[in-house]
Amino acid sequence: MAQEVRGVIAPGKDEPVRIETVVVPDPGPGEAVVRVQACGVCHTDLHYKQGGISDDFPFLLGHEAAGVVESVGDGVTDVEPGDFVILNWRAVCGKCRACLRGRPWYCFDTHNAKQRMTLASTGQELSPALGIGAFAEKTLVAAGQCTKVDPAVSAQVAGLLGCGVMAGIGAAINTGDVGRGDSVAVIGCGGVGDAAVAGARLAGAAKIIAVDIDARKLETARSMGATHTVNSRESDPVEAIRELTGGFGADVVIDAVGRPETYRQAFYARDLAGTVVLVGVPTPEMKLELPLLDVFGRGGSLKSSWYGDCLPSRDFPMLIDLHLQGRLDLGAFVTETIQLDEVEKAFERMHRGDVLRSVVVL
Ligand SMILES: [Zn+2]
Ligand SMILES: [Zn+2]
Repeated sequence: MAQEVRGVIAPGKDEPVRIETVVVPDPGPGEAVVRVQACGVCHTDLHYKQGGISDDFPFLLGHEAAGVVESVGDGVTDVEPGDFVILNWRAVCGKCRACLRGRPWYCFDTHNAKQRMTLASTGQELSPALGIGAFAEKTLVAAGQCTKVDPAVSAQVAGLLGCGVMAGIGAAINTGDVGRGDSVAVIGCGGVGDAAVAGARLAGAAKIIAVDIDARKLETARSMGATHTVNSRESDPVEAIRELTGGFGADVVIDAVGRPETYRQAFYARDLAGTVVLVGVPTPEMKLELPLLDVFGRGGSLKSSWYGDCLPSRDFPMLIDLHLQGRLDLGAFVTETIQLDEVEKAFERMHRGDVLRSVVVL
């Protein structure tokens, strides 16, 4: 039987979000209903509300979530009711050309639940943020979006791995392939940038240089493992990074902002044959101009990081285990816990840069 739950809806462009009753259908073939325990507030939710991602209002917001599987549809074998899971927004298909070549983290045909959740009041179909929609007591997803992890971890910490924190850690350990002794610079120290710092530390980087224009954020980056900080409002980050790396530049530079200026900084702040990782997401009007001779002459690789090039089934359980062993402090990303009706206020705090993550606890 379909169930009615409370959920946070973005009704229209730039309208305040509000709580509405959401109808969650029983899971169909390949689907699962998850009882959400915690869900982080991410910039992407704000972009949905602002109409920056699509016009498919109303949206059911929320996508950095963990919870317990309540029921599964026909053909679901990987998870069962009672499993503690982190939700992911890239359920790999196993059949596309990327998957068949053994690179499922690039899957070109990721999928979501086929059925739609609806508004109880009007019957309108909801568009779940990133195919998840977890600012709700329960949500319907594709079973492949559920990744089982050790239930010893708290849900408010685990959920963050579902998006921003995974993107940042993955930018360092997967895309950037940071290794022991490497020098790493991270430009932009919000949630994703700080996670990249934490990922670089986890991978054994010897020098981790955090760059931001906000002194408060640099302080946080230091607590996540940055060995040096550069305030790019006060000094040229390219020169500063070169100075801190014997005049050469860093082995890996991660742009967690995603603007032409920061990308250019990343490009010139890396050592010859070094790696640039772009994990910050640019907007459509942005253009990049670089001397092609420098692109050739400086060698190395220029990579983009999709969701940290993560494979949820491989990376989520591993990172949760490392967290439980005390080797990765995921709790440091949770600034505050809030209730479902406080999401609008949390957007304001996030916009002002006052929080790394507010997490809705259900
Ligand atoms: Zn997110
Ligand atoms: Zn695929």
